[in-house]
Amino acid sequence: MRSATRLGTLGTEHAYVVLDAAKQLEAAGHRVLHLEIGEPDAPTPPHVVEAGVRALREGRTRYAVAAGVPELRDAIAQSLVLRGVRATADNVVVTPGAKPMLFCAALALIEPGDEVLCPDPGFPIYESVVRFAGGRPVYYPLDRTRAFAPDVDAIAARVTPRARVLVLNLPHNPTGGIASPGDLGRLATLAARHDLWIVSDEVYGQVRYDGRYDSIAALPGMSERTIIVDGFSKAYSMTGWRLGYGVMPAWLTGPMTTLIINNLSCTATFVQYAGIAALTGPQEPVRRMVAALKAKRDVVVRGLNAIEGVACAAPAGAFYTFPDIGGILERTGLTCESFAERLLAEAHTAVLAGTAFGPAGAGHLRLSYAGAGPDVELALERMRSWVGSLAAVV
Ligand code: PLP
Repeated sequence: MRSATRLGTLGTEHAYVVLDAAKQLEAAGHRVLHLEIGEPDAPTPPHVVEAGVRALREGRTRYAVAAGVPELRDAIAQSLVLRGVRATADNVVVTPGAKPMLFCAALALIEPGDEVLCPDPGFPIYESVVRFAGGRPVYYPLDRTRAFAPDVDAIAARVTPRARVLVLNLPHNPTGGIASPGDLGRLATLAARHDLWIVSDEVYGQVRYDGRYDSIAALPGMSERTIIVDGFSKAYSMTGWRLGYGVMPAWLTGPMTTLIINNLSCTATFVQYAGIAALTGPQEPVRRMVAALKAKRDVVVRGLNAIEGVACAAPAGAFYTFPDIGGILERTGLTCESFAERLLAEAHTAVLAGTAFGPAGAGHLRLSYAGAGPDVELALERMRSWVGSLAAVV
């Protein structure tokens, strides 16, 4: 027996592979520090948990409308006012997490052979779902000297007549890069000139350290060619609840909902009621979490730059650093993959190799400082002393 060849086009998320290896070390009795997985350690806000439990008790346990509970879709549309986006419930489709919306967006927009501009480094699922949908990912670079902001000229240079979609992820995983208002405007002009769709992954849209919120969909004419992908996992510490959504032109919600009916039916009904509480209740837990993350970011960036051979930019959003460890690799003859593997095996500290995010990640690591709590400083100390113990190549 064999499975269909199309499964061979799917990539994966390396974070889960490393998490699995880390769990095996823990099962063998080691204390592993987790900087691999992108998950906040703050608990889901209590009023959100309460709303979920209440919804279960009230019997909200049946199928929901496929596009999502209308009150939640309305609350989502209202919440985007913060980013300057004007939308209504008619523009919103709810999914179990942001990831299914990325998958559905790829299936909904890409014709075989279409080119899709994806960031490199970038969230590996973009490339995976683009290929699965029959498209061709075309990487555009992001680099540290520009604080990993998208380089509009570099993107424009890669647009061909086959280009159909531009994927933006701001703030960006794995680098924390954002775009200036001027660059967002230039990206919008580029998309309009070449008639491109934008898939704007804004799952870290509320995790910003500059107090600004934006979206390319807020710019004139852009809501007609943009699918905003967002969810509750990161801002509301709801990774395990599985709740996300897409915001798109109203005409597209019909076909998108047909796609949902064919694979998901709907998102868990009681979870959607918890989502309403998250958006309409107090936002203080989000502000508190972002302030705590900012303090942790500063510790991590300082600690990494203090290690010889490491150069690390301060992320403007999200909760990852993407240090260049080229100086260490040159001295020791390691690659970023063998460095990450040995750091886990020998110093019990789990991080990801930069290449888990595309070819441009070579020579880098990705560290998530969202989930390790106070262990972040211990992780830096372990890394510093382990690096110090590495023999130089002769
Ligand atoms: N998009 C990006 C850039 C992410 O980093 C993640 C999760 O790590 C997701 C989407 C998926 O989020 P969700 O948990 O809502 O499916």
